[in-house]
Amino acid sequence: MKDAERLMAKGKAAVEILRQRYPDAECSLESGGDPWRLLVMARLSAQCTDERVNIVCRDLFREIPDAQAMADAPLAQIEELIRPCGLFRTKAKSLKESAAMLLTTYEGRVPDSMEELLSLPGVGRKIANLLLGDIYKKGGIVADTHCIRICGRLGFYAEELKDPLRVERILTPVIPVLEQSDFCHRIVHFGREICTARSPKCEDCPMREICDHNG
Ligand code: SF4
Repeated sequence: MKDAERLMAKGKAAVEILRQRYPDAECSLESGGDPWRLLVMARLSAQCTDERVNIVCRDLFREIPDAQAMADAPLAQIEELIRPCGLFRTKAKSLKESAAMLLTTYEGRVPDSMEELLSLPGVGRKIANLLLGDIYKKGGIVADTHCIRICGRLGFYAEELKDPLRVERILTPVIPVLEQSDFCHRIVHFGREICTARSPKCEDCPMREICDHNG
């Protein structure tokens, strides 16, 4: 089998195994499907757990519910509310600037193209792909730490590869567009439960037949 065909077959199999294991494919960030809130939560999740972001955002969205309120809020208030997420000064500044840009440039709507999303302060490809996949159903590989580690072990690329952009480019053609968003959510659950960073449970793993790790 040629390499491209092998990767396509592996992608198909991985999608199916994860679908069976995690039928719900829920995003760990509880945004309720609101694009602005998902953007905020994804921004806050940098170097912070999704669990903490969910807790912090209950208060944050009670006081600052939308982009207009974020643009109007004093920076010090935003900083105080998001402080437990870490890097709070940088995150508060970029959220306030993003909110202002949304209102002035995008008529208050979170845009639906990679290029426009990347124009928002603090929004990188990871956040953009999450929004494109989850909200706009356009597909998007969210190359987070779980995705990068596990897909390397599975053999989509060398395990040493840690560059998110290269990972995204390799996985995009081998995971069907409409499956990409669910695949990335499921792989996070899989990475927490089975293929953990320190001690992957290979004996109990439903992927072991298609996995190149150690073999
Ligand atoms: S077999 Fe082991 S390394 Fe491969 S995906 Fe499963 S847990 Fe991860």
